[in-house]
Formats: sequence, structure tokens, C-alpha cells
Amino acid sequence: MKKHIFLIGIILLCTQAVFTQSDLHSSHQKIEKDTDKIYEKLVEIRRDLHKFPEIAGKEKRTSKIIKEYLLSLGLEVKTNIGGYGVVGILKGNKKGRKIAWRADMDAIKFQTNDRFSFKSQNKGIAHMCGHDVHTTIGLGIANVLAKQKENLQGTIYFIFQPAEETFTGAKAMIEDGLLGLIKPDEIYGLHITPFETGVITTKPNELFAYQKTVALKFKPKADVDELKSSVKKILKELSRNKTNSKPWELQKITNREIGLLSPNTIYKDYLFFEPNLRITKVEDSTTLKIGLYETYRKKLISIPLKIKAKINKTKHKESLISVVYLQGRPTVINDRKLTEKALKTLKKIYSDKSIKRLHGQIPYFNEDFIYFQQKVPAVLFFLGGSNVEKNLVAMPHSPNFAVDEEAIRLGVKQFSSFVIERAKTN
Ligand SMILES: [Zn+2]
Repeated sequence: MKKHIFLIGIILLCTQAVFTQSDLHSSHQKIEKDTDKIYEKLVEIRRDLHKFPEIAGKEKRTSKIIKEYLLSLGLEVKTNIGGYGVVGILKGNKKGRKIAWRADMDAIKFQTNDRFSFKSQNKGIAHMCGHDVHTTIGLGIANVLAKQKENLQGTIYFIFQPAEETFTGAKAMIEDGLLGLIKPDEIYGLHITPFETGVITTKPNELFAYQKTVALKFKPKADVDELKSSVKKILKELSRNKTNSKPWELQKITNREIGLLSPNTIYKDYLFFEPNLRITKVEDSTTLKIGLYETYRKKLISIPLKIKAKINKTKHKESLISVVYLQGRPTVINDRKLTEKALKTLKKIYSDKSIKRLHGQIPYFNEDFIYFQQKVPAVLFFLGGSNVEKNLVAMPHSPNFAVDEEAIRLGVKQFSSFVIERAKTN
């Protein structure tokens, strides 16, 4: 998950992954037991990955560990897909649907003061986005579901994706023929977030704000200082957010009253611009580049036009050449119908308390999971990994990023159950 800024601040959301009495089912009970049995081993794997992080495109060791683990479970394994991508195929003995679970595995360049015994041994590289946890959960799900092969309906694919941080790995796997090797009906994945450990959350459609860069090109004679102040005034007029709120600050995303899990969230229906205007002067023009964050796709289209119209009412009208968007990355869009079904499935198996609906969109972050979503109906979940009592705050890319490893246990249990339910024909 790509980011810019960080925060600290969490809330407690009373959650516990438990099956409701009415939905107790032997396969889910077995998943719980089997997960508990392998939990310590999974923590070891996670700590090993954490100790030896690899950046995007260099996940050689990580992919070898994944390959060997999947082979040890008896899965069919394909390697070197779009770089170090690995796919594990688990065929159930019964007829069913084809469900894919995706985990990303790369770390980032980061100088960390990790306080843990298993801190990074690779200088300047660290798992500050939780992909070590994602990989471990993926392996855990593969393990407990492999033990259900006999009764498993359908086929489960495990996609271990490299190079998420550079937004290239998912695309590379697809371009390398991933969807020729496997034919999933649905794809799911998760990202660790600073909600309390075990909280699972998502929403239909956009999870993040659209992030774009708009370029304002002027004739070279334009006075840059005057231009900047004029454009800043225009951007202020175009910005919108809930009264007295600051959606550009992440500090409140887990706040009970106004955070992402509250219907009264301040993180919906906003447009804001980055405060710094980047200026490029070349012989025949002066360009101002501005980053923006907009929650509505439809409103995106009109922003350059609105900026242009406002500039045309100023003395800079004559020197304006163009206002256009620069090429940007697509943003995660959860399949609307499938998200509703997925939330329903999760709630059916687990306590409602741990399954939450997001009410807003996170600024700054994004995920290349979108490239899978462009091909196959897919849903990205967020899994909480913070624990106040343990002083662990799982805000990706923040200097103190730390995950409560209990999230691994809860993630494996809930999503293993989820995946087998989705693979059932009925
Ligand atoms: Zn990430």
C-alpha cells in the first residue's frame, strides 16, 4: 500500500472472532483448531520474513520460502510469474467455485528503529507496510484449507504477488499470463490497517480517494509568485470537506465518532489539494503541478475545467495555455455486488462485532490490487492490527509501524472460513 503521511491514534473496538452458536459448523471449527495449532509456527515465519525483508522486484528469498511451504502442503505450485510471483493451487475433492486469495510480499526502503528482537537484518529495508503479515496469513489459509481438501468444494488459488509498493507486481503477473494459468471466479485480499486487531472492514466501490496531479501550463512570462497566490486562492475555493474537518490528516481515521467506521465520518465527500505547488520552468512555458484527492469519480472530470474557468476570470487569463491531468494510477474499486455478498458471508460465520462497514475513503493510500479488479470481480479487505495495550499501532509506512501478531491468527481463521464458503456452489 502506497502512502504519504502517517498518524498515530487508535480506538478500541470490542471484537473477537467467534462463531455464533447457530452457525457452528464442523469445517469452521476445524479451521479454528487447525489455525491455533499452526499459529506459533506462523509467527515464526512472519518474524523470519520481517528479519529478511526484500524490496519490490527482489523478493527472491521470500518467494522461495512461499514455494517450499506450499509444496510441503501438497499444493500445485507455479513460480516466477511476473517476477517473483508464486501461485499455489488447492483443488478440493468436491465440485465448487474457484476462489483466489492474493497476498503481497514486498518490503520498502526504510531506515527503522525496530524495537523487536526480529528486526530487519537488511540495512535500509523493512516491512513497514505489513506485507510480511499478509504473506503469512496467505500461507496460513493455504495450510488450514489443505487439511480440508477431502471436503473442500471447488478450487482455491493462492496468489503471492511481488512488487506491490511500486504498483507494478499485479500488472506484471497478469501480463505474464496469470489468468491463463488460473481462472478465478472471484479474487480477495487484505491489507493491515490501524483498526483494532481482528477488525475486518471494507465497502463497495472506492476504498481510497482518487489521487491525481493536475498540470496548469502558462506562458513563460507569467509572474510565478503572483500565479501561485492566485492559483492557491482558486484551489481553496474549489476544496470541499465537512465543516471544521481535516480529511487530509489521518489522525482521526480510527476515531469512534468521526473515523472511517462511523456513518458521521469526516472522510467522505471531500476534495483537497496538496499545499505545495510544484513549478517547472522551461523555455516556452511555466507549469504548476498540484496533487489532489477527490472522493467522487464523476467530480474528477470537471476539476480541470473549473480551475480553467476561474483562471479565466483573473488577469492570468491571457497567459494560460492549458489545464490537464497528468497520467495517474487507477484506484481500488471493490465490486459492488460482491462486496455486499462478502460482508454477508463473513457476518454469517462470525460475530458481527468484528465485521465493519467503512463509511469513508482513505486519502493518500492506494493498492495495485486494482489490476486484478479490472479483470475479475474482487474485493479488498482491511484487517485491523493495532493493540493499545501492547502499544502497537499498525499504520502502514509510519516510523513506529508495528502489527499485533494476533491479527495473523484472526485473519487466517476468518478468511479461511470465508474462502470455503465462497467456493461453495450454493
Ligand atoms: Zn502495503
